[in-house]
Amino acid sequence: MDHVIGLDRSQTQLLPPCLEDYVSDDAPVRVIDAYVDSLDLVKLGFKHATPKRLGRRAYDPGMLLKLYLYGYLNRTRSSRRLEQETKRNLELKWLVQGLEPDHKTISDFRKDNKSQFKKVFREFNLLCRQLKLFEAELVAIDGSKFKAVSNPRNHFTKKQLQETVEKVDKGIAAYLEKLDREDDQALNGLRESKETLEKKIASLKSRKARLKEQLESLEKSGEQEIGGHDSEARQMKISKAPSVGYNVQTAVDTKHHLIAAQEVVTEANDLRQLEPMSQAAKEELEVEKLGVLADSGYHQFQHLKACEEQGIETYVARPKTSSGRGSKGNRIYPKEQFQWDEEKDVYRCPAGQELKGGKLRNKPNGKVREFQNRKACKGCELKAKCTEGKYRTIQRWEGEEAVKRTEERLRAHPKRYALRKSVVEHVFGTMRIWGQDKFLTRGLEKVSAEFSLTALSYNLTRAINIVGVAGLLEAIEEN
Ligand code: SF4
Repeated sequence: MDHVIGLDRSQTQLLPPCLEDYVSDDAPVRVIDAYVDSLDLVKLGFKHATPKRLGRRAYDPGMLLKLYLYGYLNRTRSSRRLEQETKRNLELKWLVQGLEPDHKTISDFRKDNKSQFKKVFREFNLLCRQLKLFEAELVAIDGSKFKAVSNPRNHFTKKQLQETVEKVDKGIAAYLEKLDREDDQALNGLRESKETLEKKIASLKSRKARLKEQLESLEKSGEQEIGGHDSEARQMKISKAPSVGYNVQTAVDTKHHLIAAQEVVTEANDLRQLEPMSQAAKEELEVEKLGVLADSGYHQFQHLKACEEQGIETYVARPKTSSGRGSKGNRIYPKEQFQWDEEKDVYRCPAGQELKGGKLRNKPNGKVREFQNRKACKGCELKAKCTEGKYRTIQRWEGEEAVKRTEERLRAHPKRYALRKSVVEHVFGTMRIWGQDKFLTRGLEKVSAEFSLTALSYNLTRAINIVGVAGLLEAIEEN
């Protein structure tokens, strides 16, 4: 039996007479088209949204926004690939009405409208809220590290730069020593001539000059790190390996796993993100009260306190501490056995002694006071059960009461906290499958714009999956 036979290329075909016939009624591309058409691009601040009276005609930003949204939804993000797709993809031809902008026009559009994409993301969330897709009661906050366009080998901290300069200096000294030796034929078994050694020294010297320049500009800028391609990206572990990237933060609604708020930051850890992300989610959802789930990486005393003051109920796991264990792992009195006396501003220890507090000091996870009574500890009979040092210190963090209340909530609602993992993992897992966990642009502002497009595409896909193309088209029309 023969194989299935295709069309004869030279034979005239009766293809559908118009582009409309190539796109089915339930194609997601119709949602992109209708949604972008419904936006007020002038109000949103898109460049060239109002056509110029004179000069060369510009492309409609609406058309370019449709092109990008289609690309992000279909895993085609580069401007060159998008240019190619406008020439061969029938759905895209329908979407952009046969226009074929070149890759420079396409990439310039993303560059020129950096802050506008977040506004479009917000506008879409408004539509989702009208469709009651957000519960707006409980969100899960989490971060993920996305790779930057920067080679980790060319990205240094000040300390690393200084160490590399020292290594280069040692290399130069070693070659100079070899040069000083009279026999320039066979050194260390390698037949290196005087000329070769001089070349190596020159190359190391020019590397040293480059490193020195970087060190100077790092000192002048006051930044912590300097990078070859993206100086705003930071060293961080990505997939357990040292890399260079950005920390992407999301607040995800627990009802349908839609992203309520998103941000890109340069800090590698999440310690200072709880309050700003919770507040951003609360503002986006326009609610007075909001529950927030986050892992122990977000446990920061001041942030927990600040959240409480703003009507945000936190469910944040406390990091494992060594309270109740000495440095050798032996049992000592845990902090709970020290009673807090609010009135006297002291802790009372198991021996009945009062521990007085020092000044408030700044630490990475909050402000803290240390309570001690060195004199009492010196002759204490219970010392062996209390400390391995000369005296016992109890730390009291600013916002400790808020921490206690957070722990009580966690104990009272264990199922609520258990939701956290599945909610946020869905978001970042999907973005990884889409291959959108690596940025294509450089600099915080541009990568933030890129992530807004990724987050919008994610929410758009979720909304289509939940209410369907027809449901969304109807909602857009009614809006
Ligand atoms: S060692 Fe110090 S803090 Fe500990 S029980 Fe004795 S007096 Fe109190």
